[in-house]
Amino acid sequence: MTVRAGILVIGDEVLEGATADRNGPWLARRLLDRGVKVVGIAVCPDSVAAITSELATFARRGCELVFTSGGLGPTDDDRTVEAVARYANRPLAVDPALEERIGAILRAAAQRWHRFDEAALRRSNRKQALVPSGATVLDPVGTAPGLVVPPADGTGGPTVVVLPGPPRELKTLYERAIATPVVARLLEGLEPPQRRVVRFFGIPESELARAVREIEEEIPEARALGPGTYVRKGEIELVVRYAAERAELVEQFVTALARRFPRELFAADGRTIDELVADALAGRSVATAESCTGGLVAARLTARPGASAYVRGAVVAYDNAVKEAALGVEHDLLARHGAVSRQVACAMARGAAERLGADLAVAVTGIAGPGGGSAEKPVGTVWVATYDGRSAQAGRLWLPGDREEVRARAVTAALHALWRAARGEELPF
Ligand code: ATP
Repeated sequence: MTVRAGILVIGDEVLEGATADRNGPWLARRLLDRGVKVVGIAVCPDSVAAITSELATFARRGCELVFTSGGLGPTDDDRTVEAVARYANRPLAVDPALEERIGAILRAAAQRWHRFDEAALRRSNRKQALVPSGATVLDPVGTAPGLVVPPADGTGGPTVVVLPGPPRELKTLYERAIATPVVARLLEGLEPPQRRVVRFFGIPESELARAVREIEEEIPEARALGPGTYVRKGEIELVVRYAAERAELVEQFVTALARRFPRELFAADGRTIDELVADALAGRSVATAESCTGGLVAARLTARPGASAYVRGAVVAYDNAVKEAALGVEHDLLARHGAVSRQVACAMARGAAERLGADLAVAVTGIAGPGGGSAEKPVGTVWVATYDGRSAQAGRLWLPGDREEVRARAVTAALHALWRAARGEELPF
């Protein structure tokens, strides 16, 4: 059994690139995890004609369900409900109970403002309480309610699930939508696929693609797995979605990958490097010394709840004078080798561990660009060093991309270096 769904992201601001769409990918992922076939994500402006035309396209593509995001606001440029009602041929009427509920929410919010126009408030209240006949209302999180709008009788079109644009509201109303009898009935009997994520660091995507081809020759059944590979700031994520009866085949496939990439495959169970670092530290403390990453490594480490158990602190030593004063890097070392060098990276790591009283430290120094490169040390040259209380290790990377990408990749590399050092292993680069 298959259920096909389309996702329609509505909003001029998304179309114009002012807001990056977070709802389409989120909805796609949730639906795929339930076993729904997502035929596509479309983005369209806040216009009735555009919205109805996109809904018709999804209907032609055999969708039983379409999820829309955005365009539910009180202002006249939000047209989603009007468009969906027109598409489903269901007249709009004010739902008095909903009008009352939204009114209470709006009045409470309005009290925070010194000036507000009572008449405008009533008007927007009324607009957001318009419901197509036969639709199920999803209780609002903000002021905009969601809707589940079944197709008009006999048309065989998709059921349209109308969700608000703000991601937090959309997520909550999505859960409410799939619990409604109309949507639950559509999803009944679907088998959610299993999902396996395998992570790699230090190989190009082409190498992984070659290995996958070779494995598919060895194990022809593995061709049906159709893994997806995604490049993530220096790491590669391989994702396989599969039915439960293929579990053994997936295991064989992952084992074959691990055999080919014994060092580069760092998580066969989908765990992230952040989780692995936290585990590998096992009661020890860590500090960072950062130049070109400006504290981003410390930010990644402290993003995890419970980081206070092992993160001691960080020194952002951007200027050489700070490398000397705050980390104790010798002036002579900086003068002789330059700030972007093995020697300085090691001294920074050692300085951070000693000055901040940490068991382990990681240091990053490099040239993020766009300026500052030379023939010997081009933009993207980054040294990462670790210090474990006894000795330092360092490795050099030549990272591609613009400033933002070089910095992001340097952070990933620093976490991998830290993970190896915490396990008493050599750095991976
Ligand atoms: P509201 O009642 O809050 O206006 P709405 O459904 O009308 O809800 P929009 O007006 O389309 O939502 O968008 C409101 C805000 O939600 C946007 O300014 C933006 O910050 C965020 N938003 C909307 N769509 C998306 C999206 N696809 N991805 C990420 N954020 C979004």
